[in-house]
Amino acid sequence: MKYRSILLFGAPGSGKGTQGKIFGVIPHFFHCACGDVFRNLRTDSELGRIFVAYSSRGELVPDETTVALWRESIGQTIAAGRFHPDEDTLVLDGIPRNVEQAGMLSDSLDVAGVYYLRLVNPENLVARIQRRAIKENRLDDANLDVIRQRLKTYEKETKPVLKFYGKRLVHEINADQTPARVLADILRIAVKH
Ligand code: ADP
Repeated sequence: MKYRSILLFGAPGSGKGTQGKIFGVIPHFFHCACGDVFRNLRTDSELGRIFVAYSSRGELVPDETTVALWRESIGQTIAAGRFHPDEDTLVLDGIPRNVEQAGMLSDSLDVAGVYYLRLVNPENLVARIQRRAIKENRLDDANLDVIRQRLKTYEKETKPVLKFYGKRLVHEINADQTPARVLADILRIAVKH
């Protein structure tokens, strides 16, 4: 079966997680952040070690591993009765993160819209990410070289996902606004579909 989905898309630090968390408490939306699925792994497990190895370098975890873990995690949320695919819209944040993943997931996702959180002043990203590192105790956010690498990975590997879905599905949102205004802009479009 295909899950009706909307994708939160944007650079690291663009506010996807903040919006995703809000969506997570609106009835009939189910939020899934791929980074959280990875961070919930035990660091002494095989997959946990793979995650730390890649994320600490600012690189993407290999696609097969990512997609398999994601499928397993979604299956568990359905089995636990937290996500009801027949009634809920899945709000994805952090996946698909490259064109290969988008292709692999096309059998599972019925994408209703892609919300591209676009920052007009990307210089602010590094500062945003560093603030978050302190607040959320995130290893991959602490080091400047790693942050720069993650922004490069985003430009090179993740951005082409926008072309994959195409103009009809992609909605550009000004991510320099307050979280409430960003939410208002997304909802204005999302509730029409
Ligand atoms: P951010 O929102 O700041 O980009 P995430 O929490 O989404 O960070 O991801 C943290 C790290 O987890 C990424 O840098 C990457 O190494 C790994 N990761 C998360 N999602 C994926 C994915 N879909 N494919 C590959 N790696 C991923």
